[in-house]
Amino acid sequence: MGAFAAKLLNQDMSIERYACQFKTLQVEKVFLQSKFVKDKKIAQFLACLIAIVTMSVTFFDRMIIQAEFWPDIAMIGRAVTVAVCALSAIGLNYIKTPSQLRAVIVGFMVFLFLNMQFMVITYERHYILHMFFDVIVLITFYFSTLLSMKLSILLGVAYSMLAVSVIYINKDITTHSFYVVILAHLAANLAGMIMAAHEHILRRELFVRNTQLAQLAHEMKTQALKDSLTQLPNRRAFDNAYPEYQRLTQQQQGEAKQVCVILADIDYFKRVNDTHGHEVGDVVLQRFSAFLTHSLRTSDDVYRFGGEEFVIVLPLCSVPDATVIINSMISRLNSEVCEVGELSLPIRASFGLTVMQEEPKKSVISRADAALYQAKDAGRNQLVIKL
Ligand code: GH3
Ligand code: MG
Ligand code: MG
Repeated sequence: MGAFAAKLLNQDMSIERYACQFKTLQVEKVFLQSKFVKDKKIAQFLACLIAIVTMSVTFFDRMIIQAEFWPDIAMIGRAVTVAVCALSAIGLNYIKTPSQLRAVIVGFMVFLFLNMQFMVITYERHYILHMFFDVIVLITFYFSTLLSMKLSILLGVAYSMLAVSVIYINKDITTHSFYVVILAHLAANLAGMIMAAHEHILRRELFVRNTQLAQLAHEMKTQALKDSLTQLPNRRAFDNAYPEYQRLTQQQQGEAKQVCVILADIDYFKRVNDTHGHEVGDVVLQRFSAFLTHSLRTSDDVYRFGGEEFVIVLPLCSVPDATVIINSMISRLNSEVCEVGELSLPIRASFGLTVMQEEPKKSVISRADAALYQAKDAGRNQLVIKL
């Protein structure tokens, strides 16, 4: 399962639509983490874009059209903007957590907002061009959803109040034009808020869908690899694990660390079914599976290969060690009975052991099967090794 989907099992993933965030703090955190890398890239892209726009506007304005409106201090302001954008774009590479990213973006936006007002003060032309920039910056800022809805509104409204005040104090402006400026800022904030709210909710809804899909896919995959009666991994799971066993085999770590493969088959199991019924047979299969699992180390694997046949894989094990393990299983089976209701059933099994080579699955299984067949032939309830 995806790392994010796994963290969100059994969590309430409903969205608080007015706040534009998840009701559960843990879910919100995981969501922010999930979009962290992408957000960093968006922030870097925007910083570069602002630098490029600032440079090109300055170039066209100063070099071609209106050089006389540019005092030196305004040029310094623009140069500082470009430098801060470039530094931020580079610095963002070193950001490690969503909260660091938030701090950098807030810092950058405050700088940008103050810097833009500095331009308005130093640039001697009228305010219309800046109002135009304000509107674009505000809407882009909201729409990027880099900050939470609350923080965006706080910064956006604070910026508009600052911008409107700066124009009022510094520029020669008629009452009518002043209303236009206020209206433009109001409209930019409102449009930004609506777009941001929509975007915030949409992204969270998408995140919920993706998480649910990942969880469902994981569950289906787990089910497909598990035997429903014994809860052991099934033959398909063995097929999937085979390349990993082959990798261990290829590492050739000497005779003490081989991959031992054992085919186990319950003796005269058909009689259990025939005498006591299929249901009792099922219980015996479950008990035998549990017996196998408990008899092995955690690094060992057991698969239900089909019917009453099981594959045991002992990775990084020597043949003498594997022999000790299997023989002790046989003697424990011989000393115990399987109690099913009133019944006390003796369970016996035969085992065929081989060592995995660099070979196809078929060939190692057929060697283990040949060993098992010999064990059956020699009277059952025993281990036969065939290398
Ligand atoms: P042998 O000692 O030679 O292995 O004899 P056996 O009777 O164990 O082997 P055989 O292959 O003749 O019979 C296996 C039986 O296992 C036949 C089948 O009905 C039964 N079986 C297979 N899968 C299941 C299952 O899921 N539940 C039950 N109850 N029986 C099963
Ligand atoms: Mg059998
Ligand atoms: Mg069989």
